Amino acid sequence: MKTERLRLIDDYLRQTFQGKIRKISIDIGATCPNRDGSKGVGGCIFCSEQGSGSRNTWSQPDMVAQIEKGFNSFQKHYPDEKFIAYFQAFTPTYVPPARLQQAIELIACDERLSGFVISSRSDTLNSKVIDILQKKRGISLLWLELGLQSISQVSLDWMNRKESVEDFEKAMDLCRSHAIPVVAHIILGAPGEGSDHLRRTAHYLNQSGVWGLKIHQLHAIKGTRLFRLYQSGQWHPYLLHQFLDDIILFLENLRPEIVIHRLVADERKKTGIFHNGEELVKEVVYRELIREIEARDSFQGKAII
Ligand code: SF4
Repeated sequence: MKTERLRLIDDYLRQTFQGKIRKISIDIGATCPNRDGSKGVGGCIFCSEQGSGSRNTWSQPDMVAQIEKGFNSFQKHYPDEKFIAYFQAFTPTYVPPARLQQAIELIACDERLSGFVISSRSDTLNSKVIDILQKKRGISLLWLELGLQSISQVSLDWMNRKESVEDFEKAMDLCRSHAIPVVAHIILGAPGEGSDHLRRTAHYLNQSGVWGLKIHQLHAIKGTRLFRLYQSGQWHPYLLHQFLDDIILFLENLRPEIVIHRLVADERKKTGIFHNGEELVKEVVYRELIREIEARDSFQGKAII
């Protein structure tokens, strides 16, 4: 998707690294403190069984095999593009430090990889983890993704996050003091979060020091607790016009320097956003979003500059 009206990650990477970057997903066998009982059980209400399908075991040959598999599936289609490792399954910073260190050493030794990204929970970041990341600052690309999801504790409790805004702020302090760029994950569409909440969320992120942002619409994946709430009529997913109103308002209040890594999440091409009774795919939502942004002469930061 191309537009001058938003600061999108693909444009940033193209300008900075003269090309597109593909992510090779690596599972280092992490579990999650919100599933194993140390913080909670059952996980966040939107977390799918696939997330929980992460293996609790890990070995070096296994990770090498994952990297090779990623290259094999990507390289024939994108031979000229750059690649990074993406640690995403569950809570990768929840593994024993030695395992994280070993995994990162493997990435750093592989000349085909330009860096790595770790997506994790704020409450599992500590100085040991930061020390491990800090040692690899020399590689060209590294950022951390942290799930803030909402600035409302009521919403976080409803989502069964077992985490707080203070956890996020502590993790931000650690990352800032070590100059590690952070991409926050934020969810739009929790019950009761209206326009005023969207503005406050954007303003909060503007002063938080985040480098980037991944936006997810709340959507119910089969098998999750959220899906059961949807089936029983206790929670309603976005209609397209509601989603467009919310995300445009949010983006207009977001600093134009914040790099947007995602606007719409999808699960096997479905977004959980509906129009005329039909569930839309990501491409359709993107197309409608860009069309609407242009029709309203909207752009990132419009309301705050
Ligand atoms: S913190 Fe992440 S992995 Fe853990 S339950 Fe929530 S969404 Fe799933």
